Amino acid sequence: MKYTIATLASHSCLQILKGAKDEGFSTLAIATPKKNSFYQRFSFIDEVLTIPTYQDLYNIQNNLKKRNVIIIPHGSFVAYLGNDYDNKLKLLHYGNKKVLSWEGDRLKQREWLEKAGIRLPKLYKNPEDIDRLVIVKFYGALGGSGYFVAKNKNDFAKKIEKINIKEFIIQEYIIGIPIYLQFFYSPLSKQVELLGVDRRYETNVDGLGRLPHKFQEDLDLEPSYTVAGNFPIVIRESLLPEAYNMAESVIKTSQKIIPPRGLYGPFCIETIVTNDLEFYVMEISCRIVAGTNLFSQGSTYSDYHFDKPMSTGRRIAREIKEALEIGGLAEILN
Ligand code: AMP
Ligand code: AMP
Repeated sequence: MKYTIATLASHSCLQILKGAKDEGFSTLAIATPKKNSFYQRFSFIDEVLTIPTYQDLYNIQNNLKKRNVIIIPHGSFVAYLGNDYDNKLKLLHYGNKKVLSWEGDRLKQREWLEKAGIRLPKLYKNPEDIDRLVIVKFYGALGGSGYFVAKNKNDFAKKIEKINIKEFIIQEYIIGIPIYLQFFYSPLSKQVELLGVDRRYETNVDGLGRLPHKFQEDLDLEPSYTVAGNFPIVIRESLLPEAYNMAESVIKTSQKIIPPRGLYGPFCIETIVTNDLEFYVMEISCRIVAGTNLFSQGSTYSDYHFDKPMSTGRRIAREIKEALEIGGLAEILN
């Protein structure tokens, strides 16, 4: 049977479909009218299907089902299709949808990571307990937009009053550098692979550092964390064993709390590394992250696992191909 790999035209669509084409699949981008002409530019996309809004995907599912479309989710699925897309989407879907409820709820995610023995920033349930610099985060994959930093509980009270958002978490602000570890876990080979490492380029926190201190003071600006791009990183080799250990532990724990399959496919452990070279985990993303777009030609790290340039997008397509060869497609689709 012939399968077509498809995704929504945004986020990491180019990487996913280029990788699918490199592995020999037909490719389909599902676009809104505004995006159509941009995605038409790329010869590795066999078809750009235009629908009025992303939500209209639900209305064309029967048609796509007949075409043996396999949907690869990415970071804009929840933003464009809604929180409940896991229930509404009836197409062949790569990845374990049951992971979404654990990932999407910050407190459940924390429980998962704690069970896995991961080092986490302190969490403040009660704002009264704030005793150091904290970062306040909102729910949903908004790419860091709207976060704010508070010096103490009074500063927090002043800032939260100005915003009309009820669902947030207060985390200890870790002084260090952000490092995002991009992994892939294959239930076929039972191996974890590190495919790349990046950091985000965030406005305005990365822009503020370009101004001399006296201007920063005069402007009285708050740092904000809206991601606009990403940088590649190689980390000290001595940090790699811990990186792999964390990933394996997260996978093993997921198989216990989300049995039987747990988390598989691409995921990203988002960390801050401190002066003592300790990883603090801020968050885990359980699908392809946009930082993988850096490595459409593979990375230093994917090179240690594969003799071909291996992007995360291509790795997903290869996994599907290998599953098809051994008749195990049901193992990896949901
Ligand atoms: P876009 O297609 O650029 O509008 O992005 C769709 C969703 O993915 C939004 O929720 C973004 O915040 C998120 N996103 C896009 N690019 C990145 C990135 N480089 N890092 C993290 N999140 C991203
Ligand atoms: P996130 O959406 O959780 O990946 O966070 C977005 C950005 O906020 C990160 O890239 C960091 O720059 C910053 N950040 C998040 N959590 C923390 C933390 N606990 N300590 C320091 N910086 C953080």
